[in-house]
Amino acid sequence: MAKILMHVCCGPCSIYPLDYLRGEGHNVHGYFFNPNIHPYTEYIRRKETLDAFAEKENWPVIFAEEYPLEEYFRHVAYREGQRCRFCYAMRLLQAVRVAKRGKFDAFTTSLLVSPFQKHELIREVAEDLADRYDVPFYYVDFRKGFKEGVEKSKLLGMYRQQYCGCVFSEKERYAPREKGRQK
Ligand code: SF4
Repeated sequence: MAKILMHVCCGPCSIYPLDYLRGEGHNVHGYFFNPNIHPYTEYIRRKETLDAFAEKENWPVIFAEEYPLEEYFRHVAYREGQRCRFCYAMRLLQAVRVAKRGKFDAFTTSLLVSPFQKHELIREVAEDLADRYDVPFYYVDFRKGFKEGVEKSKLLGMYRQQYCGCVFSEKERYAPREKGRQK
């Protein structure tokens, strides 16, 4: 059994990875740090959704107090096309630091469950951090449980967001509809 810190992007995405890791017998702790979620009210809604789920599951989750969206925007300005790399790195850097400080055996992320994320990029960024901080990255292709997690989140009545997190992803989600309405 390993003590694993799982960076959590949101409640619904954590369902399958938590089941999977607990099923393997690990002691799993969550870590919520997501300054890429905009606007702030959406961030709070996702945070509260995870908080309620964690309580129900008797799952220890650390909620970062910081919400440095200024730092996020400073780094992605003028390179919005590469924003996901920085976004993953920013969040997983904090996760690996917490894992190191807390003497976890490994860290991972619920981001690996989504077929809509840049899966190989997440893995690349995380493995680089694992080398630099000497904390193993527990890689699992959680995507095989994506549908199962979606179904369970619906049964639980959890809030399910409609876009990845940043304002750019929100625009990508909704702008085509706006164009359609203008016709
Ligand atoms: S699309 Fe998602 S992963 Fe990419 S920068 Fe925005 S919030 Fe981060």
